[in-house]
Parts: sequence; structure tokens; C-alpha cells
Amino acid sequence: MSKKTVSDIDLKGKKVLMRADFNVPLDENGVITDETRITAALPTINYILDQGAALILMSHMGRPKNQPNPKFSLEPVAKKLSELLKKEVIFNDDGAVTGSVTVAAAAALKPGQILLLQNTRFRPEEEKNDHRFAKELADLGDVFVNDAFGTAHRAHASTVGIAEFLPGVSGFLIQKELDFMGKALEKPERPFVAILGGSKVSDKIGVINNLLEKVDTLIIGGGMAFTFLKAQGYEIGKSLLEADKMELANELVKKAQEKGVKLLLPVDVVAAETFAADAPFVVVNINAIPAHSLGLDIGPETAAIYTKVILEAKTVIWNGPMGVFEMPAFAKGTEAVAKAMSDSDAITIIGGGDSAAAVKILGYEEGMSHISTGGGASLEFLEGKKLPGIEILQDK
Ligand code: AMP
Repeated sequence: MSKKTVSDIDLKGKKVLMRADFNVPLDENGVITDETRITAALPTINYILDQGAALILMSHMGRPKNQPNPKFSLEPVAKKLSELLKKEVIFNDDGAVTGSVTVAAAAALKPGQILLLQNTRFRPEEEKNDHRFAKELADLGDVFVNDAFGTAHRAHASTVGIAEFLPGVSGFLIQKELDFMGKALEKPERPFVAILGGSKVSDKIGVINNLLEKVDTLIIGGGMAFTFLKAQGYEIGKSLLEADKMELANELVKKAQEKGVKLLLPVDVVAAETFAADAPFVVVNINAIPAHSLGLDIGPETAAIYTKVILEAKTVIWNGPMGVFEMPAFAKGTEAVAKAMSDSDAITIIGGGDSAAAVKILGYEEGMSHISTGGGASLEFLEGKKLPGIEILQDK
């Protein structure tokens, strides 16, 4: 899966249309509360400008329901970007995204200058991957750079359709995702350990199935572990259960045995009587979960076993918390996994979403080799699916 990247093509004098992920959170006053996604795009932006190209940036933000809506304007992003780059970022509040004011601004854009388009989701054609809208976007520039991994699993006009009209390459963010996650799935250094948690088995079936073909050990924690435990005959009290997935859980356990993959389930849990941050809790063996309580975290013995396996691994991928990490009393299992990954010399990859949030909240960001910028996109990647926003890029 080797795709061309910005550094593989000549950009001098070109007008580069770059799809970024500027889907940043705003507070009620329209102030950006987390600029991580903007700073993450800077290396690709700076590289393109340094090559002597003019840059036209595109992104969606939020869900404006396919029409212009000032609440979802990218204007705050233009201001923040201009502040970070110490450079003017031209922005027009163009509800049509590719209206005449934008066509004129793009035509006048000189090398080194930046134009940010209005929210692509102001146009109903964006999410339909409409060819005419894709062509209107493509007509603004000469080359397409996709650096929005978070939307790479969606075939939209600004992520996929546009590449029918322009040569497409990846930016450095997507390249890094492919380098880490792609390599781990294709040619991992072994032992290769995957850790899966989170609330539901049903969300992770595809990932478990695909990873069972690749890993040496599969560690299971979080709410989804209880469906496996119940299927194995344990009493799980009021813990999360997807009764209709028990049979499947047993099939996955069997598949692991057939493939020679070690599948680890919790041996002890932290159980509380209610789902509340201040609920009294006990640590119990999985044979002894009280009937009236729910398991909200893996227990210390399980955390120690998982830590040991992680420290012996050469590649570790993690998706989904080990417990209700939002409540400090039930965050210890998730923290143990984050710490073990951070302490290990292995290639450590966080597969986006809640585990990325947990790693940041718990302060282990620095210790990881790669934290994916996509939640849904990284899950689909780990499922072995082809992401349309990457497929359409030129092969090396
Ligand atoms: P997901 O969105 O499927 O990745 O799941 C993340 C959510 O699962 C987090 O909000 C956790 O609080 C929740 N979670 C993890 N372990 C448990 C558990 N044992 N019981 C209930 N919820 C859990």
C-alpha cells in the first residue's frame, strides 16, 4: 500500500488543493477549544508553501445539515491558522463554497499565498460525492493533496470525487498513518499484540476478525469483555452484555485457538453496585462477580498480566479503554495499559477515538510511537477495509 506523497511530486508554481481535517471543537462563542487538528496540518502546509506553490485549503466542520450555517463557518479556523503561520489566510464567507468570489480568489492566488474555502458541507453535494461539485473544487487548482485521515473512510466530493479530475497524493499526516498502521498490519515486528476494549463487541467484530489473522496475542478488556466472559460460562451480574453476540464471542475464541493466537480475557474485575463515579466498589475474581453489581474496570491482577504481555511485545496496537476511564475509580486498568505501552520499547500505536482521548487525559501521549488522528477511519483501517480517500491517491 504505497501511495505517493507530497514529497514525491513537483509542486513549484502549482496551485495545490489540500483537504485537511479542520473539524475542530468550538465553544458557544465560536472560540476553538482544541487546535490540535490545525497544528497537525502545519507540516504539510509549510512544506507545500516552501516548494513555491499556492495553497487552497478545504475542510468540513461539524454537521451543518448540507446548507450554509454561520455556526459552522470556517472563519475561526482561518484566523487561528493565520496566527499560527504568521501569514495572511484569505477567507471568504462563500456559502456556495465554490462561488464566483472563490473562483476569482483562487485564480488570483500567487505562490506562497493561502486561501481557505468555506465549510465543504455547506454544499449538499459534498457528502453525496457529487461529480459536478467535485469538478468545481478541482477546477480551482492543479494538484490534490489529501491529509484528512479522519474522513478518509468517507467517499465525499472533497475527499474522493476530486481525485477523478486531479492527480492525488497524500500529505504527511496520512503518510504517517500508513507508515505506522499499514506496516503493523502488513509486516509487524513480532510479538504483535493487539488490545481491544470499549463498550461493545458489535462495534469491534470486524477488527477482531481481521486482527486474529495477524496478531500473536489479542487482549480483551472494557465492557465488551463481559460478553466473552458470559459466553464462557461466567456469571457477570449486571455488567454490560450483548446477549445476541455470545455465540459469536465463542466463535472468535475458537478462531483464535485455531490460528494459534493467545486470546486473553480479564481474570479479575473492579465491580460496583451502580454506574457512578462515587459508587463503592470491590475487586473480585471473575468467578465471584456479585449478582447485583457491574464490572467497570479490569482488576489489578489482569492489569499485571496485560502489562507483562505488552512489555514483551515488539508491536502493540490499542483501541478501546479497559474500563470506564472517565471515572477515576475505574480508570486504573486503562492507565496500566497506557503506562505499559509508554514504558515499552515496542512500536506502539493508538487506534484513535476513546483510547487516544484516554492516553491524552492520562498524560502518556509522549510515550507512544503513533496516535491515530481518525476514530472511525482507524477502526475501518484495522478491519482491513480499503479507505476510499486513500485508495484514490496515486500509487508510488
Ligand atoms: P467505545 O466507544 O466502544 O470505544 O467505548 C468507550 C466507552 O466504553 C467509554 O466511554 C467507557 O466508559 C466505556 N466502557 C469501558 N468499559 C466499560 C465497562 N466495563 N462498562 C461500561 N462501560 C464501559
